[in-house]
Amino acid sequence: MRLLFAASEVVPFSKTGGLADVVGALPRVLAARGHEVVVVSPWYAALRGDAAPLWIGDVPVPFDGGFEGVGVGALEADGVRFLFVGHPDYRRDRPYGYDDDVRRFARFVRAVPAVGDRVGFRPDLVHVHDWHAAYLPLVLKHGWHLPDGWPGLPSVLTIHNLQHQGVSDLEATIHWLRLPRDVRATGMQHFGTANALQAGLDLADRVTTVSPTYAREIATVEHGHGLDGTIRHLNAKVQGILNGIDTEAWDPRTDAALPQRYGPEDAGAGKAAAAEAIRRELHLEPGRPILGSIGRLAEQKGIDLLLDAVPELLAQGWSLALLGAGDAELEDRARRAAADRPGRIGVRIGYDEKLGRRIYAASSAFAIPSRFEPCGLTQLIAMRYGAIPVGRATGGLVDTIAPGRTGFLFTDATPQALAVATAQAMQALDDGSAAALRHEGMTSDPGWERSAEAYERVYRRALEGDT
Ligand code: ADP
Repeated sequence: MRLLFAASEVVPFSKTGGLADVVGALPRVLAARGHEVVVVSPWYAALRGDAAPLWIGDVPVPFDGGFEGVGVGALEADGVRFLFVGHPDYRRDRPYGYDDDVRRFARFVRAVPAVGDRVGFRPDLVHVHDWHAAYLPLVLKHGWHLPDGWPGLPSVLTIHNLQHQGVSDLEATIHWLRLPRDVRATGMQHFGTANALQAGLDLADRVTTVSPTYAREIATVEHGHGLDGTIRHLNAKVQGILNGIDTEAWDPRTDAALPQRYGPEDAGAGKAAAAEAIRRELHLEPGRPILGSIGRLAEQKGIDLLLDAVPELLAQGWSLALLGAGDAELEDRARRAAADRPGRIGVRIGYDEKLGRRIYAASSAFAIPSRFEPCGLTQLIAMRYGAIPVGRATGGLVDTIAPGRTGFLFTDATPQALAVATAQAMQALDDGSAAALRHEGMTSDPGWERSAEAYERVYRRALEGDT
């Protein structure tokens, strides 16, 4: 199949979270399985990765009542073609977090067909990710000025996080996207506003979310973020497919960020060396097992529960190693916790890939106290690096952590419930049963092959028009 992915971030070029890991990994696996895959993402100012895209020209994009030019960047890696949409809109400090985000990504969506056409690529199907790209199915069905062969292309939407929906003014958004006025009657409209994610839900041929449990949860008021009614209505075309991780990129046997590499058979020594390194880096006392946590500092991630549980966690004997960035208040709270308990709590605010890798390796256990978690990748990476995950029983954490076999789960979103589960992990360290849990986690297969097969089935159903 000829597949076009459209997403706001993709590893190794850009990343703020798990979306980038998925869009970095899945296309490579699909390409290796014989598909032709093109990935389109914005050309951010701070593009990372070993190779820079080659600018191959400008293309006119139908946008905001007229046509505006965008630059096209291209490069190829691991059998996948990556295309980048260049515009001053994306040459800012961060990928998003701006008042005009919906407009910026409306431009991106409108640029995708023009950019694909520029390199002569006409997909059989487009696969769009999260709200940033979710207007593409609507544009393909109703938009003016599409290249030949693009109108009506089948599409699949993957929801990596239902909380962020891309809400904006309805009339303005119709104008930006150059759509006929009657699209007001589609799922684009949500109580008088424009909602990108709901437009995608309505207009995509198939919808996936990143775990089976999350697929069920988002049909409930508690986890539906206002779209649960829509999801219940469209239930027949929504399904969950669990994320994998890139097992080459995340492998303690080859990870250059670690002081000593290790596999399941010699994890003890490798993890001890990593723990030593982290104790030095974060000024932690020697000897205590490390409870790690890495992630966006957002209400979703329940980092406040972890901070509220500090007295119990320290009493249980843990040292804490936290890495994250996001909400300013949570950043302050984390910094204060470290300042109050030097030697026992090490906090690094910021995004630091290499430090993250060392924390995964250094941790005996790893906390994921999320209030909701569509899939979650940190528990998968933690397991691969021999850290026992302690997660809240929600979303993908339920589907990936086997209580008592690979990790521990707790149900209530309270510091007390978290502390009960970390106590179980500490007990496992004390009585030696942790070794079996760690081994099971390190040797279970979190790879992408099974999920790639499931996506292929979804693509076939979308192509057959079977909704
Ligand atoms: P999200 O909801 O943010 O997508 P996931 O668990 O799906 O959460 O993915 C998070 C990814 O981002 C993981 O690869 C994790 O290691 C990485 N990550 C998150 N925050 C940081 C940080 N501050 N520094 C380094 N890596 C981070």
